[in-house]
Amino acid sequence: MVENVVGRFSMPLGIGANFLIDGRDYLIPMAVEEPSVVAGASSAALLARAGVGFKTGCTDPIMIAQIQLLDVADASKAKRAILASQEKILACADTSPTISQLGGGPQGMEVRYLPDTEAGPMLIVHLFIDCRDAMGANAANTAAEAAAPLIEQISGGRAGLRILSNLSDRRRAWAEVEIAAKAFDSNDYSGREVIRGIAEANAFAIADPYRATTHNKGIFNGVDAVLLATGNDWRAVEAGAHAWAARGGQYRALTDWHVRGCGDSETLHGRLELPLAVGTVGGATRSHASAQIALKILGLDVDGQEEFSTESGGSAGDAGAESGLQGARRLSQIVAAVGLAQNLAALRALATTGIQKGHMRLHARQVAVAAGARGEAVERIAGQLIAEGSIRLERAKELLRM
Ligand code: NAD
Repeated sequence: MVENVVGRFSMPLGIGANFLIDGRDYLIPMAVEEPSVVAGASSAALLARAGVGFKTGCTDPIMIAQIQLLDVADASKAKRAILASQEKILACADTSPTISQLGGGPQGMEVRYLPDTEAGPMLIVHLFIDCRDAMGANAANTAAEAAAPLIEQISGGRAGLRILSNLSDRRRAWAEVEIAAKAFDSNDYSGREVIRGIAEANAFAIADPYRATTHNKGIFNGVDAVLLATGNDWRAVEAGAHAWAARGGQYRALTDWHVRGCGDSETLHGRLELPLAVGTVGGATRSHASAQIALKILGLDVDGQEEFSTESGGSAGDAGAESGLQGARRLSQIVAAVGLAQNLAALRALATTGIQKGHMRLHARQVAVAAGARGEAVERIAGQLIAEGSIRLERAKELLRM
């Protein structure tokens, strides 16, 4: 898959349990090296089941391909000329017969003017490419390269870069959840206290970039784990989502948590929306054996797509447009739900006992393994470290030598 390979780097593959998404049960494959992530997502998903689980949605899978135009004599005139030739340009950018047959391909365009860059003024042409079930980097890049000569000819400019934008803000997914306050009741805290704390934590992350960064990192604990497990390009999604989080000029939380209602009928409402350029075909999704298994677990492998096609009204025989579309869109919705669950798990811990209590047992096991413990010794050493209240590598090594 890559160059200069000297070996493999394995990650644990866990299963996020308890997920009810749009009325359907899911087991979520999560590839992640950090302790507590899978446990956190699973416990938050269990809380969400106390309501109706997660409700999700998404836009069409539209990627943006950028063409940078330099040395344009008259920017307004060139912009008008490009837009007037939209049909011809889009036809020229229609380079993937497979995607077009599935109902995707170039859908539209816009032209932006950057008057004041270090390299002088530039016109930037955006092609909107519906990539169906592909993440679409190759489809978008090929389209941009194919359309560039015609755009040069029409504008009189010189094409520079021709590449997709990872700020895929026309390709978003969202997840929502509503949970009754009483579902958060415990011996130490009332549910109403907890959900108020969660809303206050979110307000902090909306107002403060220092907090927002950590808040969003927690979301990506879940998002990246699913992306990695399914062979998706998590750097692409991260880059896009962080840019989206800063779209108003300040980096903010990607989520929104509010208390609704009053008194005994109070509920916690949460929402996460982010750009999610993911694929169920292409890239590593089909070339990595574990990614194929992960997609199968999600019901998004080729057979699963047919199943979805039947659900959305098509016949099992026409594994065409609908089924294809459903694959990547469905994955993006699942990923959004996992991100929201992960955030809920973190905020719930932060708003109550703090993050460390639950984390420590898992951390102690990792320290024990790092010290050389294997088999039953892992639990024994971890237990001892916790009992002593000192989770240090040196102490774990000492205990192992005893
Ligand atoms: P791809 O080119 O491997 O596969 C997409 C192709 O699959 C389509 O062009 C189409 O021919 C075919 N296909 C079959 N069934 C389809 C369906 N139902 N829907 C859509 N297409 C279908 O993959 P890609 O998604 O274009 O590229 C993803 C890869 O590109 C990732 O590995 C990513 O890391 C890499 N990449 C990313 C960037 C970036 O994010 N900036 C840049 C370059 C490459």
